[in-house]
Amino acid sequence: MTERWVYSFDEMRDAKRDAGNDWEAVRALLGGKGANLADMSALGIPVPPGFTITTKACIEYQALGEHIPEGLWEQVEDALTRVAAVTGRTFAEPSNPLLVAVRSGAQFSMPGMMDTVLNVGMNDHIVDGMIENTGDARFVLDSFRRLLQMFGTVVLGVPSEEFEKVLSSARNEAGTDNELDEAVLRSLTTSFKSLIDASASQPFPTDPTSQLHDAVEAVFRSWHSRRAYDYRQASGIDHNLGTAVNIVAMVFGNAGPASGTGVVMSRDGTTGESAIEGDYLMNAQGEDVVAGSRPTKPIADLVSEVPECALELFATARLLENHYRDMQDIEFTIENGRLWILQTRSGKRTAQAAVKIAVDLANEGLITRDEALLRVSPDQIDTLMHPQFTAQDLASKPVFARGLNVSPGAAVGIAVFNPDLTQQWSSQGHHTILVRPETRPEDVHGMLSADGILTATGGRTSHAALVARQFGKPAITGADIEIDLLARTVTSEGTTIHEGEWLSLDGATGTVYQGKLATTAAEVGNDALSTLLAWADQRRVLKVRANADDSLEADRARKFGAEGVGLCRTEHMFFDSDRLPIVQRMILATSEAEQRAAIEELLPIQRQDFIGLLQAMDGLPVVIRLLDPPLHEFLPSRSELNRQISELERQLPEADLNQKTTDLTDLTNTRTLLARVETLSESNPMLGLRGVRLGLKLPHLTHMQVQAVVEAAAEVARDGGNPRPEIMVPLVGHHNELAQQRAMIHATITETETRLGTNVPVRIGTMIEVPRAALTCEQIVEHADFLSFGTNDLTQTTFAISRDDAESAFLADYLDTGILDKNPFSTIDASGVGRLMRIAMRDAQKTAPNIEVGICGEHGGDPESIKFCHQTGFSYVSCSSYRVPTARLAAAHAALEGNPTPRNTTSLSAIGTS
Ligand code: PEP
Ligand code: MG
Repeated sequence: MTERWVYSFDEMRDAKRDAGNDWEAVRALLGGKGANLADMSALGIPVPPGFTITTKACIEYQALGEHIPEGLWEQVEDALTRVAAVTGRTFAEPSNPLLVAVRSGAQFSMPGMMDTVLNVGMNDHIVDGMIENTGDARFVLDSFRRLLQMFGTVVLGVPSEEFEKVLSSARNEAGTDNELDEAVLRSLTTSFKSLIDASASQPFPTDPTSQLHDAVEAVFRSWHSRRAYDYRQASGIDHNLGTAVNIVAMVFGNAGPASGTGVVMSRDGTTGESAIEGDYLMNAQGEDVVAGSRPTKPIADLVSEVPECALELFATARLLENHYRDMQDIEFTIENGRLWILQTRSGKRTAQAAVKIAVDLANEGLITRDEALLRVSPDQIDTLMHPQFTAQDLASKPVFARGLNVSPGAAVGIAVFNPDLTQQWSSQGHHTILVRPETRPEDVHGMLSADGILTATGGRTSHAALVARQFGKPAITGADIEIDLLARTVTSEGTTIHEGEWLSLDGATGTVYQGKLATTAAEVGNDALSTLLAWADQRRVLKVRANADDSLEADRARKFGAEGVGLCRTEHMFFDSDRLPIVQRMILATSEAEQRAAIEELLPIQRQDFIGLLQAMDGLPVVIRLLDPPLHEFLPSRSELNRQISELERQLPEADLNQKTTDLTDLTNTRTLLARVETLSESNPMLGLRGVRLGLKLPHLTHMQVQAVVEAAAEVARDGGNPRPEIMVPLVGHHNELAQQRAMIHATITETETRLGTNVPVRIGTMIEVPRAALTCEQIVEHADFLSFGTNDLTQTTFAISRDDAESAFLADYLDTGILDKNPFSTIDASGVGRLMRIAMRDAQKTAPNIEVGICGEHGGDPESIKFCHQTGFSYVSCSSYRVPTARLAAAHAALEGNPTPRNTTSLSAIGTS
């Protein structure tokens, strides 16, 4: 028996049975659009009759080297006969022809990325028959020119601009699309046919069945188009899923003044407010609305234009939202005063809207709190934490233009008018703003690489808006700008910006600024966000701390929900211009006395730093790491010193006497410094005198840092605070290193506390950042009160890849060529580095079953790595303050995954039964 490739919209029962009664499997088989069309038709929602060719057929088509699987056309013919029976029309029959739309529809929605052809089934003969039958030549010819245009582009590969050129000169003479009269449309169809004859390798097929077959194959092939590939790549969609094809009886939005077409969202996709939003056009068809090629009307206007349809549409939007328990993006057509729903799917939304909608749906009882948590991705929280413009700059910089605020966030970049160039410049490290009259699906690679998107046309549901929202790109559409693609300029109110000049977009307000605005950090002030994060806190097992080096950062981290500091890199306190000279003196000292004097000078400064941190995190643990980096990082480089010496030597002969004396002194000092720097230089400084080795080699420094911690804690406690300092030793490789360093730390704590008469507990722990430490944790843990994985160094030392050089040297190639599928410095390499971590954890627990284990490398803020930490049984993750909210949600997701939610996202009972 041949495989079943086709399901009519009224055969949901069969599809469910064949998909094992699982809704996701139904979607995988019929694609999202097909599954929902079948589902809606079972619910009694007005869906035009039609059928779906399964994704399996597409996969098989590709597997057969682009050949139609056996039995497919026969099944299509049967299904088409059924549609004909329901509509009372016959395919390819001139007096009352059935026309169909051929529409792609993958399991996961990929708006506009694959192809669609409308009005399939027309030729000159049928056009005549239809005109005779309907008496509406304008409508019939408009439909035919659309078929020629779409078929020509999608199936026959004629560039869309060629058709657009002809169309826009007709528009210039006759007005907008719906003002083109019969004569103009007739001549357009002739021009389009000639264009196809001249540009395509194959003529336009006049046989309706050939049209249908060609269109189906074109949709199958569009799965592998560049834009579809780019989109899948960026969204993490499997390239092997294939697309379904939906063949649907045409209903006509271009059938006259009582017809139209549009898109509604059941909630606002930008803010998440519970208000229907959308755009529509009367007397228009298909892509007119999404492409943004004609100015659309806001959906509220529909109420005065076709009141019954508007009310039915709004009620249907609510019904569908309740049915699918999520915000819906609905495509509709009104044909002569009758509403038809062409598609519904979960709506794309901004990060801000995602949070608000999830919280509101949970509060409305439509979904559980756990579901609400899973509806928001940690990456969306990350987007929300993106910088915003400073109020000061917003007030002072000139406004260039205004448009629709379709995707929030601040984007600063140079204007680029071409998507390929945008991709190229962005990959060279430039910040870019892609400026286009409108965006089309083939621009997606440019949109993904741009920092922001600006378009002249297009509404809230335009392609640009949808894609930008999905990928968290700040975007402004429908702006009051004029774009000259040839001159590569954008003009507004008399001001012209050329390609390569700076623009700043405020996606939250829809304002475009000329020049480069400064940005500032975001805040968790949003009610819905704090509610969602509070729900996340109830679910997560992992604690979340922050990496913070000063009290400001610690304050911010605490506001974002950090439960302590997981890493204070004390070296960052030494880089300030007033401290660096002291540090340099300490390093360059030629006697112990000189060195001690410099260290003594640092003591009060460090103490003050620690007081700030401990106060900001009052009552919460603060992990202070002893000095870690190689000392040369505090000194000028050899090349810089050599440059200074040559410069002084060059100036010397020309200088006057006074100047000469100063220059000579400078020259001597610089030469001395160079000599010292050369003595200290190491071939492999990252494997040299750093971490615990430095602490052991410079005991006075260790002593000073520990003393500063104890004195700071004592002072905070004296002022009524609850300081919880913890001292962490970096880069330990052998337990004896830690044993010795611990003894030193311990001695200083005892000595300082005795002197001060205080007793604030100070825990002493270590980082696990080299493989030997990971492999000998059983011994290491004997000297540690806690462990923290320094996964930056652990990745570096496990892979033997320099973390500072690899990214620019070869890592990008490794990722491109598939040697690595993820950057191991962003996401824990679970099978290598992760394996060491699991071994370390297991062995540590043998000696100390309750040992506290955390992570403080960059991976601590990465959702996938957080999942790993949860599964490995860590106590906490520590990440940069801005990633704390992201980590809170990611930790909750990790916990929920191991402990499934009580209700599935869409249960089968929610699917209509037919
Ligand atoms: C680490 O190595 O992961 C770490 C946190 O330390 P640093 O990045 O300061 O070397
Ligand atoms: Mg490190």
